[in-house]
Amino acid sequence: MISKLKVTSVTLRSSIYLSRKYCSSISSKIEVCDSNIKGNNLNVAELKENYKCLAESFNNVETNPYYIENGLRKVYPYYFRHTTSCKGRWIKKPLIDVYTQEFSLYPREEIEKRILTGVLRVNGEVVDLNYVLKNSDVITANVHRHELPVWACSMKVIFEDDDILVVDKPSSIPVHPCGLYRYNSAALILEYQEKRKDLHVTHRLDRLTSGVLIFAKSSEKSNEIHENLNLRNVEKEYFCRVEGEFPDGVIVCNKPLKKIYSKVGIALVDPLGKISITEFQKLSYNGKSSVVRCKPYTGRTHQIRAHLQYLGYPIVNDVLYNSYVFGPEKGKHGILHKDINQLLIDLVKEHSVNWWLGKLEENKVMDSEVDINIKKLISSTNCYSLDEKLLSDSYKKDSSKLTSEKNCYFCKNVFCDPKPSNMFMFLHAYKYKTNKWEYQTEIPAWASDDWNIM
Ligand SMILES: [Zn+2]
Repeated sequence: MISKLKVTSVTLRSSIYLSRKYCSSISSKIEVCDSNIKGNNLNVAELKENYKCLAESFNNVETNPYYIENGLRKVYPYYFRHTTSCKGRWIKKPLIDVYTQEFSLYPREEIEKRILTGVLRVNGEVVDLNYVLKNSDVITANVHRHELPVWACSMKVIFEDDDILVVDKPSSIPVHPCGLYRYNSAALILEYQEKRKDLHVTHRLDRLTSGVLIFAKSSEKSNEIHENLNLRNVEKEYFCRVEGEFPDGVIVCNKPLKKIYSKVGIALVDPLGKISITEFQKLSYNGKSSVVRCKPYTGRTHQIRAHLQYLGYPIVNDVLYNSYVFGPEKGKHGILHKDINQLLIDLVKEHSVNWWLGKLEENKVMDSEVDINIKKLISSTNCYSLDEKLLSDSYKKDSSKLTSEKNCYFCKNVFCDPKPSNMFMFLHAYKYKTNKWEYQTEIPAWASDDWNIM
């Protein structure tokens, strides 16, 4: 246990390794030093206490971070220092602008407060509101962290040997720590619940996408799988359910996709984007929606979802791309009826963190048709039943672990549970194969020919 705060310097590293390509390391460097604290409106005693809890919580890595409530896996709030290196696109931009535009779901006033009080620092120092970022700057945020809930269902093991672990990832769980998910990511659930150490994430799936997820058990194996993915030696097959009757035959979309960095990250067809190729084939049509098999030949962010939107057949419950925010045609053929800046403003409004806060009363009382149908789906299949391990007493909510921090943005607001539509999407990674191996899952219930509750 760390009790002296003045010269404590600890480097801690999770035993889950993440690809450099997909995410910066989740290793966290904790350096606590009173000399960094420079006044302003800073409550030094309070920050010290935060640092103390932070250091203690990291020392106690065997602690169970989870509890189960309403069929959801929830994480007790905790103190956390998040460390990020200045990215190329941030150089010469004010810190406040970068965090407001790209990094955080909080309002600008909250970011201002975090900079002024030293919650957000550059190279360990408290900086002015007009601080401009430089190459090699390291930004740290010391926060009382709250995570969003995910389904409390198990990640079924599809295959395991000495080299790899392959699981069927449920919808709602991100692959690795990001945004408002850390312990509630597939990588850390395997580490903290299943006590599986030294796993390497080899590829990613969107948070709402379910299906095949391959972890390597060594860096050599991880590199080998990466190389196969980079050389496009891995054949990937996905299933999705889209709006309307998808055309017959094999349809190939080869429109380049550009990733737009914003609070709500999206990919849009753009001539200046990266080469992106997806092959689609309709498997069935039930009078309202079609099951489509998708084979992405490139691996761009949101590739299948963005290409389906462009073709005019968005995934039926894709809360991001199946939306009139993109215009009356929902972005078909890239027609937006507004400029990109207005689109991003409108997307942020629709996907604000307030969706999960108790502020929006209608969020609690309005159940959309999509949500009702997803509830029916969950009750009609066993894919999303509660993970039996989570029924034990150790996962019962312990109110004494619900720490509270008076200056924390989230502590000041009341959370309500996310709606099913924010936890589920009909896109499933069914099979990954090379000429040496092949891993596949069961076909989801919503992909059967006669499924017709949507
Ligand atoms: Zn809090």
